[in-house]
Amino acid sequence: MSPAQTNAAWRASVLSGMPKSTLQRLCVIAGSLIAATTVSQPAHAQLGALTKWDTVARNIFKELIEINTSQSAGDSHQAALAMAARVKAAGFADSDVVVLKNADRKGNLIVRLRGRSTGKKPIMMLSHLDVVEAKAEDWTLPPFKFVEQDSTFYGRGVADDKDDGAMHLAIVMRLKAEGYVPDRDIIVALTADEEGGPANGVQWLIDNHRKLIDAEYVFNEGGGGRVRDGKKLSHDIQASEKKFQNFQLEVTNPGGHSSRPVRDNAITHLSDALVKVGNFDFPIHLNEITREYFKRSASITEGKIGEAMRAIVANPNDTKAAAILSEDPSYNSQLRTTCVATLLEGGHASNALPQRARANVNCRILPDESPEEIKKTLERVVANPKVVVTAQGNARNSPPSPLTRELMGEIERITKDMWPGVPVIPTMSTGATDGLMLRNAGIPVYGVSGFFYPETYAHGMNERIPARAFYEGMEFMYRLVKSLTGTRVPVS
Ligand SMILES: [Zn+2]
Repeated sequence: MSPAQTNAAWRASVLSGMPKSTLQRLCVIAGSLIAATTVSQPAHAQLGALTKWDTVARNIFKELIEINTSQSAGDSHQAALAMAARVKAAGFADSDVVVLKNADRKGNLIVRLRGRSTGKKPIMMLSHLDVVEAKAEDWTLPPFKFVEQDSTFYGRGVADDKDDGAMHLAIVMRLKAEGYVPDRDIIVALTADEEGGPANGVQWLIDNHRKLIDAEYVFNEGGGGRVRDGKKLSHDIQASEKKFQNFQLEVTNPGGHSSRPVRDNAITHLSDALVKVGNFDFPIHLNEITREYFKRSASITEGKIGEAMRAIVANPNDTKAAAILSEDPSYNSQLRTTCVATLLEGGHASNALPQRARANVNCRILPDESPEEIKKTLERVVANPKVVVTAQGNARNSPPSPLTRELMGEIERITKDMWPGVPVIPTMSTGATDGLMLRNAGIPVYGVSGFFYPETYAHGMNERIPARAFYEGMEFMYRLVKSLTGTRVPVS
């Protein structure tokens, strides 16, 4: 993986898009590395004393991690109830703390910090309660115990996504304790089944309780700081996601005895089609987010790659720059829609001409291109009427969230205060989070956290984050939320 792929902004996209076997393999590799390194690390002193709110957040975080919320044995409803009790104990009215169960062992918590009535729509902080499976026998640490060791937090969900949940809850508790009255409501939602479970909380809330989560825009996972060799490289804001669409390519044929072959062969037609798709590059198409991504990334990227980034922004038809960037799979996926063959089946007997051959082609479509256009392009590229292209299900629409001056201005200002010299870079994920459903429902979503994490092994073994990065992220989000609800922090 390139460094760009290992940061938080990419974790959801890369991991959620990965087939399980690849993930497991990565986890095993990661696991053996960790097993070799964790034990021998020298003990570091805790960096800086904890503030009261750091401690509050840490306690919430610990409780969240220690409630198993995995699909197989977990209970996100229990986690929602436990968090609701904490929020109520912090002085929130019962009517502003709602727990909704959307299936057996699946729950959602929605907390509202009331603002003055200024006519402004609320803003929301979203995270998911559920976590990816974690087998104790695969870990060297207990996955459902919150372990702090060498200034690092370990446990399933510390990076994906209970860090966000604990941080969001601690922030509204802090605002409440300070007697802060925002100029609009601030909503915190912790929801079920983001990780592919059957009872997705966000979609269910949109369909059944839209009023509870209706917001001008939402902060979600998917963003964060990029770290390379221990140095903060960029502060990434996820503002867009590609669309996911599978197409089936199928050839049928009367078949016959393989001792009397004919040229008209289902497997041959399909193979030829797949080779054409494999050699085809969709046209380069930059949008507001990816243009800014390349423009700003150029300033932290040396050599010919940095030059190519600058050149493609100046002229998207620059074929030389496109060729250089396309060599890197992560840059390539930002430049264009991609389609790749992922499954293959064909034939029914070793001594028969195939009656059927079929492949799945998985496309990651740019937000402003349509699955219908992509289907037409595939048909044109294949150029064989015997190969029937069919869309499998419907890609959900996911319009990019606008980089408004208000929002970007505050993110940049606070980033500059906290981490001088670190550029803010908008990103487009190549996979999907719950942001997809909200964007599809017309609510802009931004992956923002202020967490500068090195490799976290999210979805893997001994998932971990540096404690200090968690507390810094919390300070960043506290300032951001306050600044966007009427009170600039700090005053500058
Ligand atoms: Zn997640």
